[in-house]
Amino acid sequence: MARVVQKFGGTSVADPEKILRAAKKAARRHAAGDQVVVVVSAMGKQTDTLVHLAQQITNSPSAREMDMLLSTGEQVSVSLFAMALQSMGHKAVSLTGGQVGIRTDSSHTKARIQSISTNHVSRILDGGAIVIAAGFQGYDSDGNITTLGRGGSDTTAVALAAVLNADCCEIYTDVDGIYTTDPRVHANAARLSTVSHDEMLELASLGAGVMHSRSIEFAKKFGVPIVVRSSFEDGPGTTIVPSQSSSQRAVSGVALARNEARITVEDVPDKPGASHQLFAELSSEGIAVDMIIQNAGSGGMADISFTVTDENLDSALRISTTVAESIEAAGVTHNADVAKVSIVGVGMVGAEGVAATLFQAISAAGINVHMITTSEIKISVLVDRVNAKKCVQAAHQAFNLDGFIDASSPSEEIATQKSDPLEVVRRLEGMEDLAIEDCQLDMSQALVTFFNLPNTPGVAADVFQAVGRAGLNVDMIVQSFPRNGRAEISFTIPESDRKQALDAVRNIASDLGANATDVPKVAKLSLTGIGIRSHAGVADKLFAPLADAGVNIDLISTSEVRVNVIVSAEHGTNSLRILRNAFELE
Ligand code: ASP
Ligand code: MG
Repeated sequence: MARVVQKFGGTSVADPEKILRAAKKAARRHAAGDQVVVVVSAMGKQTDTLVHLAQQITNSPSAREMDMLLSTGEQVSVSLFAMALQSMGHKAVSLTGGQVGIRTDSSHTKARIQSISTNHVSRILDGGAIVIAAGFQGYDSDGNITTLGRGGSDTTAVALAAVLNADCCEIYTDVDGIYTTDPRVHANAARLSTVSHDEMLELASLGAGVMHSRSIEFAKKFGVPIVVRSSFEDGPGTTIVPSQSSSQRAVSGVALARNEARITVEDVPDKPGASHQLFAELSSEGIAVDMIIQNAGSGGMADISFTVTDENLDSALRISTTVAESIEAAGVTHNADVAKVSIVGVGMVGAEGVAATLFQAISAAGINVHMITTSEIKISVLVDRVNAKKCVQAAHQAFNLDGFIDASSPSEEIATQKSDPLEVVRRLEGMEDLAIEDCQLDMSQALVTFFNLPNTPGVAADVFQAVGRAGLNVDMIVQSFPRNGRAEISFTIPESDRKQALDAVRNIASDLGANATDVPKVAKLSLTGIGIRSHAGVADKLFAPLADAGVNIDLISTSEVRVNVIVSAEHGTNSLRILRNAFELE
């Protein structure tokens, strides 16, 4: 007997007929002798309809009442779903989030799960009935109804699967799996058989949009096996597996975040504390910052660029301008119409020439790149929004993902993935806390920076092709936002390659009419974990203690699951200790 959680999204329960069809899937599992927990979203676009209703009453409804209102959507669908199952002769009980025992904090409309009690649900399951749980909702310590943020039913499903130690969490939706890119952006997108948690995290919050990213964070943290399937046709779907396993290919997907805006604070005095002040202010207003790039700086000045989503641009600009004045930076520039395109793949760690291939493809499409950041499994570029679609297509083609047939098979990983129930229970308190898993120090790298590069399409391609031809293995790459028509690109390489690199670097620089400098030895600190981007204060928590200790950050790059910072070699060990302390990793 297995225990499964099946989640049906709004489109899968949009009308009575679809509810009956979805119920059949649950009934089939139940008839086969499995214990079944069903999690449902509100029917169709019901949540949008409710939001619209509220707007017709007032344009500033209180968050508590919004939760009271929105939670009714799921209450309708769970009851109908239970009736459907009962009509098929199955025992079924519907439960609200509160009846399930999903305790959250009190941040209405974006609550985080603190704990889930399993007694009630387990008792019903053991009594032979199917449990139909309302997605997206919980209750706080005062008994108020809360909701988990739009799309939160996925999080309910995966969290329930975690605490119930389910064998599998099946996500039924209107697409038949996870695709290499959004098929609406590029018709030649292909379905993946497997994708890793980390890839999914990088893809999900970047706009792939099939699953709520917090649900993936849960799955990763608690080892929940997930399959994403179509609720309208039978098919293998996509299995989400632990990190190492789906690395048959260098790049698994191309993600697009269309609604980005870029802000640059120019000529920030290059000293500890400046970035801290900026990101502390942004985080205290709840603004999540995405790409953060600080250039290597010259003449004691550095530019700090970052991106936020469109809707946060105005407040982010206001804060940046105030901070810029107080730290005596030269000024603030911004660009509202940009988009971020990222290639993601656990397989890129060992593959050669990935960066060069990407930049070459983008340049051949005639697209200029404003900024670049990388993590171990992702390269992101910021481009003008008008070029976004073309850029996705160019990248997708360059990595042979058009019509890609994924031959990977998930079977073994699923079996080994389950976590120890005691361990899960132990971690229940603060289920959604930020979990920084590790902080590593790498003292084996050198930093190379090209200044004064022309800001034209193809520059990054030229740099990394030449670097590739010289046989250099590049790790972290950062291109800051160009100033006065000149661009700056930094990257790290193994210290042992540096001698050989320098000749190549000088040649490239002179060919491009640029200058190059290098730092023979730097310290690279990498924080890895879960919730790095969804917790607004991570950047702050990272910058503050380093600034207090007088450590200047030379280069930084961020992603969903990782933050890399470069500091001078003399501060390496010291900084490692500071960060381990700050994130309680001792
Ligand atoms: N019904 C909620 C929404 O539309 C939750 C969900 O669908 O996951 O956002
Ligand atoms: Mg949804």
